[in-house]
Amino acid sequence: MEDLSDFTSGITEFLPYSQGKEQTTYRDTSTGTDPLPPLLDKAIETNKKSDAQTQTQKDTIPKVDFDVQKLAQWLKRIYPLVESELQKGPTPLSSEQILNTNENEDELEIQPYQKISIKSKDNHQGLSTWLSIYTNNTPVLVLTTCAVHDDWCEHVEQSIKVYIPKRISPSQFVVFQELKTIPTKACIETLSTNPFYKDIFAGSTVSGDLYIWKFVTNKHQGDVEEIFCENLQHGSVAGLDWPSAGRVLTCHANGWVCLWSIENQFLKEREFLVKNPTHGVVELTSIASISLTDFVVGCADGALYHCNNTNLRAYQTDIEIVPMKNHKFSVTSLFKKEICGKRLVISCDLSGEVFFHDLFSSDDDDRKTILRIPLPFQNNIACSSDGKHIFCPGIDGSLNVYRIYNGRQLNIKGALHGKGNMIKLSDNGLWIVIGIFDGDFQIFRIAN
Ligand SMILES: [Zn+2]
Repeated sequence: MEDLSDFTSGITEFLPYSQGKEQTTYRDTSTGTDPLPPLLDKAIETNKKSDAQTQTQKDTIPKVDFDVQKLAQWLKRIYPLVESELQKGPTPLSSEQILNTNENEDELEIQPYQKISIKSKDNHQGLSTWLSIYTNNTPVLVLTTCAVHDDWCEHVEQSIKVYIPKRISPSQFVVFQELKTIPTKACIETLSTNPFYKDIFAGSTVSGDLYIWKFVTNKHQGDVEEIFCENLQHGSVAGLDWPSAGRVLTCHANGWVCLWSIENQFLKEREFLVKNPTHGVVELTSIASISLTDFVVGCADGALYHCNNTNLRAYQTDIEIVPMKNHKFSVTSLFKKEICGKRLVISCDLSGEVFFHDLFSSDDDDRKTILRIPLPFQNNIACSSDGKHIFCPGIDGSLNVYRIYNGRQLNIKGALHGKGNMIKLSDNGLWIVIGIFDGDFQIFRIAN
């Protein structure tokens, strides 16, 4: 006869009530008869179908004789505890389950807001970045354009433009007004805001110069100061990210990744050469910093590598390079996103195939890719903060919105000309800018 005890088992039936602010949606997963979303690839649908609501896993119970009276006493004691747990609600769903939920949620309310023109004869690539909030939940916007370069940059009179949102009294409307045009030495190819300190932002030129700027407010007037401008000696910057408030990580087409300190002076702290484990040097196209010691790079051949360096003392060090599930085409978008408390890396290739990777899953490499979405010919994407929607620039100034969990697509009409090649979503999730459409950028506002 087995002894019954009051101790809680290792598997908690009802976890403590969610402390998060977000509303968690639930569905009855106990039936499991819903069809899979049409755009999800069933072949790599790797989520464990654990039943978070009831957790009625079948146990193989060995046949033993029970003391019925003892069992009844134990149930009597344990019942109030179970009841109080029940009142706190069911186990919150994990982010994977939320990503796959079939709940019919309210549509996002997205409106075209403002058009900004930056006319230039040669420049057909748009770039942008959102800075800190300036007024009325609206951040400062930085825009620029770039030409296509076969070789070096011969374009003179290149610049970035900074726009501040001005509140139109007495309404709550804001209008983006040009604050400043800042000349640059050559075409700017990357623009990125420091996520730890959103008044700091960086831009790199085709010729390998890295600018660090700071947005400042003096006597209620905004201004932008140049903090550093340095040539990085590795050619142009393919991708840029921020491992900490005072550090910039750059990756270069020749396979080098450099970590720069921008705290007091501009210093190279470390550099690494990313190599294909079997055939050598790779062409890097993008980078996402995960922590001070690890990052993910995307390559022109579609490969993705999780690189880890724990040796903090050495200047130039070897890194551990772990191949991730690779794309078939060049990686065009790569960024990290925290969705429901889980840090995910999202990648997209030239063909429009999107992966969500869970780097910190203990599963093997293939199972770390928790979601695969084909979005044909979309290669610049943004993901909403709840992980439920992907945004892409459409044609003629329109915005495409894909609902991840049911594949539904929404198109918000634009009134411009051409096909967009850039998108940036503001950190507060309320503003999207896409471009460039024959010299025009289009801003959208998402209702909160
Ligand atoms: Zn140029």
